[in-house]
Amino acid sequence: MIETFMAAVHTGSITAVFEERLSAIHIPRLQIGGPIDNTGPLILLMAALGLIIYILFGIILKNKKSSAVLHTPGNLYSASAAEYILLVGSETGGTRIFAQELFKQLTNSGLKPYLTDMNNYTEYPQAKYLLVLTSTYGEGDAPSSASRFLNILEKTPQTHKVNVSVAGFGSLDYADFCGYSEQVFRALQHQGWADMTIPLYMINDKSAEQFSQWVKALINCYSLPLIASPALFSARPREFKTFAFADRYFSTDEQLFRVCIKADSKVSFTSGDLLTIYPADDNRERFYSVSRIGDTIELVVREFPSGLGSTFLKNSPLGTSFQARVMENPKFHFPDNKRPVIMIANGTGIAPFRGMINANKQVPVHLFYGSRQKEVYDSFLKQELEQYLLSGKLSSQYLAFSRDKERLYITELIKEQSELVTQVLRDKGTIMICGSLTMQKDVVAQISLACKEALQKDIQQYLDNGQIVSDCY
Ligand SMILES: Cc1cc2nc3c(=O)[nH]c(=O)nc-3n(C[C@H](O)[C@H](O)[C@H](O)COP(=O)(O)OP(=O)(O)OC[C@H]3O[C@@H](n4cnc5c(N)ncnc54)[C@H](O)[C@@H]3O)c2cc1C
Repeated sequence: MIETFMAAVHTGSITAVFEERLSAIHIPRLQIGGPIDNTGPLILLMAALGLIIYILFGIILKNKKSSAVLHTPGNLYSASAAEYILLVGSETGGTRIFAQELFKQLTNSGLKPYLTDMNNYTEYPQAKYLLVLTSTYGEGDAPSSASRFLNILEKTPQTHKVNVSVAGFGSLDYADFCGYSEQVFRALQHQGWADMTIPLYMINDKSAEQFSQWVKALINCYSLPLIASPALFSARPREFKTFAFADRYFSTDEQLFRVCIKADSKVSFTSGDLLTIYPADDNRERFYSVSRIGDTIELVVREFPSGLGSTFLKNSPLGTSFQARVMENPKFHFPDNKRPVIMIANGTGIAPFRGMINANKQVPVHLFYGSRQKEVYDSFLKQELEQYLLSGKLSSQYLAFSRDKERLYITELIKEQSELVTQVLRDKGTIMICGSLTMQKDVVAQISLACKEALQKDIQQYLDNGQIVSDCY
């Protein structure tokens, strides 16, 4: 009974339950002219008492529920001390998950974030950034945790300039796609204190790719220490497993190396997934793109001499076991549509592509790879990739070495091969980009030009339909 009641409180149908329970309470009929029955008033009294307990219990639970919504566990700083304010408008909690990931990243970087519902909007005396993430509900309406936001906003100006950006969540299946976030965006634009350089980003169907584009805009515009990889917003972490170092190969640049890792027990993974390690006690994870070669996880890592994750991967003796998790990253798996694929990588960005090419049977794959020195590539990748070319697993490769005599960059290769790039897009193929965020930005700009010139199309179309995917850091 209590469970039914709790469920009803949760869905807000307390009245319905009371009505149902009232009708179920047995009230004895008065017997006129018969012998006096003393149990009747007693039962009535007990029923009334039960009803009072019901009502009190309901009120307590209801209050508990609303305070649970208001209180966000994990806020280390108060609203008045925080510098990064994350406001969430959510009906079912889906949008909150995205905000929580940003909150975690900002906390891990030692910053002062504060995450709360939009309905709790107030004055934030120390705020430098106000990031609003809101869904739309009904016909362009506010979700429940943002229902009072626009009213409060008008009455509560901030006292200093704050950088403001808004991401709207919605579904293109509805006419008012992200309608409420548009209202919020416009209302904020009218606030003299709000600095709004970034346009409104609208995210369809909780797309991790589209959300990561907003995060990239925050990184580019404000240099926020965020990780934009879509994997973090879509990946489903698996449980911890025990892994052990099996082998290691160094390039001529000792800081760039390959690590082979074996799992102790059965672990399901594929190239493009991420291995998440926790090298310190600080709860901060480091991600590494995975190649699957046979049953082995292979990583390509660049060592940062004072970096905990990369030195752990470099210096742990072979055979050492450690706990880690594989994060499934389906958006960055090799496409299974048999259409041509272009892979673009620099430095350690080659990591997931080695396994994908190794497993490729019949799809035309073209690789663009950029590195600083040719000799590093020669010592590290040349032999393997040339074998893939010979066996047909790789159709072509284009190499750029930025610190060689010719000082060639990947973007120049893409410009030279723009016909191939646009043909792959025309053929409904996929372009996969992995490596540094700077490279990604330049590459996307170059592909964007090619799309406009040769296809008369906006690159956004290919980013949205998943023909251009990236996993950069
Ligand atoms: C989705 C994703 C995939 C990744 N895949 C790979 C991969 O395949 N191979 C790989 O080597 N790395 C990869 N990384 C980066 C990796 O997770 C770590 O950030 C990196 O190895 C540095 O961690 P660390 O613990 O060694 O350094 P930290 O302890 O985090 O930092 C120590 C020092 O290194 C500096 N530092 C850290 N990262 C950088 C950087 N990128 N540029 C300049 N300075 C830096 C810091 O400023 C600091 O001074 C990936 C990251 C993401 C988000």
